[in-house]
Amino acid sequence: MLYLVPTPIGNLEDITLRAIKTLEEVDLVLAEDTRVSGRLLKHYGIDKPLKSFHTHNEHARVDSILQVLQSGSKVALISDAGTPGISDPGYLMVRAALDHDIPVISLPGATAFVPALVSSGLPSDRFHFEGFLPHKKGRQTRLKYLCTLPNTFLLYESPHRIKKCLSQLIELCGPDREACLARELTKIHEEFIRGTLEEILTTLDSRPSIKGEIVLIVSGSK
Ligand code: SAM
Repeated sequence: MLYLVPTPIGNLEDITLRAIKTLEEVDLVLAEDTRVSGRLLKHYGIDKPLKSFHTHNEHARVDSILQVLQSGSKVALISDAGTPGISDPGYLMVRAALDHDIPVISLPGATAFVPALVSSGLPSDRFHFEGFLPHKKGRQTRLKYLCTLPNTFLLYESPHRIKKCLSQLIELCGPDREACLARELTKIHEEFIRGTLEEILTTLDSRPSIKGEIVLIVSGSK
């Protein structure tokens, strides 16, 4: 059995009872950064063997984990924060498990884009989740495409690139497109900046620095 277990995106109380129970019951926990996850498990009083499973080693690790699963062990996959497989490793392991008739059980739980979307005040009935944009090659093409979409779209963006991202969006979608920047969700400094793309950029320009984790929500093309 392979379990996908969401972990908090900030507030440590955002973990389900089932997630804790599952982590207590599995034989092995696959984690992006074993130090980060080790601290998290310790917080909940869970002591389990941890094995690293991240973007740079997931291809090399899949076969050995399949063997563990085929021997009858229960394995949980977690990421540093949020839901595995959402802009985080997960897909490859799920595909491999399914291809070998190993059941995959995904627990519902914390993820950054859902609270960002539903609190944004922008239409949430239909939406497009983009996640991270490419940094260089293909970035402009992707942004052009996003600006044509009729539905709200969501981006994960780093604080270092957010101003560049907003400037590019202003150029391609126009300055008056409604948007919302959700920062540090569930943490002490949680913040929502709502307005047009231009207004959000002006707000950021007025600050000495931009820190924290960011989801950018942009309304669809009219
Ligand atoms: N698996 C995670 C999820 O389910 O949302 C996403 C992991 S991805 C590597 C990290 C990105 O998610 C951050 O750069 C940011 O864009 C977004 N993110 C994660 N935690 C966040 C938070 N507390 N507030 C705002 N955005 C967050």
